[in-house]
Amino acid sequence: MDQLLQQILDYKREIEETPVNGIDSLEAYRIRFLGTKGILKNLFTEMKNVPSERKKEFGQVLNEFKQLAEDKYDYWKKEIGSKTEESTADQVDTTLPGDLLAIGSRHPISLMKNKIIKIFERLGFSVAEGPEIEDDWHNFTALNLPEHHPARDMQDTFYIHQRPDWLLRTHTSNVQIREMEKGKLPIRIICPGRVYRNETISARSHCFFHQVEGLYIDENVSFADLKQTLYFFVQEMYGKNIRIRFRPSYFPFTEPSAEMDINCQLCNGTGCTVCKHSGWVEILGCGMIHPAVLENCGIDSNHFTGFAFGMGIERPALLKYGINDIRLFSENDVRFLRQFIAAT
Ligand SMILES: [Zn+2]
Repeated sequence: MDQLLQQILDYKREIEETPVNGIDSLEAYRIRFLGTKGILKNLFTEMKNVPSERKKEFGQVLNEFKQLAEDKYDYWKKEIGSKTEESTADQVDTTLPGDLLAIGSRHPISLMKNKIIKIFERLGFSVAEGPEIEDDWHNFTALNLPEHHPARDMQDTFYIHQRPDWLLRTHTSNVQIREMEKGKLPIRIICPGRVYRNETISARSHCFFHQVEGLYIDENVSFADLKQTLYFFVQEMYGKNIRIRFRPSYFPFTEPSAEMDINCQLCNGTGCTVCKHSGWVEILGCGMIHPAVLENCGIDSNHFTGFAFGMGIERPALLKYGINDIRLFSENDVRFLRQFIAAT
């Protein structure tokens, strides 16, 4: 105890006698006496070793010493002036620019999907979603694709082991069925989402991809409505000068069915590898909903008619952003994704 008091006296003398004459020696003083591992800190931890009857005395001496050490520091800091302030590590220059926040970017599939949704929303369509794990009824049977129907072969998918009746949906048409089953008419929806096919993965195809499907059911809906809706869509998407053509096609769930082409945007119809020198690029399938599908969902097909269409999102995204490999969309490579920070 007495030894500690003597030490404090020695430190006091040191403070009084040692001149502080610059920023460096002030900083050395601060670290020696006031720092987190400094003399004051150590003396305060010695407090616990002081006999309790002398704690009060020791505390008083120590507090006086603390006051002296701090007063001296403030005094010299003032003396040395503004130069000291600049060198002190905890000073903050508020005029410096801040740290940049890392900004993410939207995935090109999301960009394209949102673009499509926005156009149809302006026509009064609302977005509907449904499960990706679906039962056979909503993915196939209700869509006029009964078991053993040959068209099922074109949509081979993945089945759930424990429930052979369950599968990963091959299109977002299951959402259409679920909406129709609700029985609230008219229906005007678009269904964006991820779908699955049992296909070999390559630059041009993948075992999963994305679709946007559309459905409109009301009284007196005709093929003219279908055509005008889709014409409006491609004009908004690709420009007013776009040309379209419909080719007869076959889908079990629509009758009549068609595929819609637009004139090739890359060669403007003169022929290139993308359009396989035809001047046309297929962008979607469509048709008037088959009466059997309406009846499967409890809708009177004598009273109501409707149209449906479906398109992939990957293909137009590949074309728009000049991407040559569909696998890039799902590899999560930051070098790829970063390129879409400014994309729309
Ligand atoms: Zn072309």
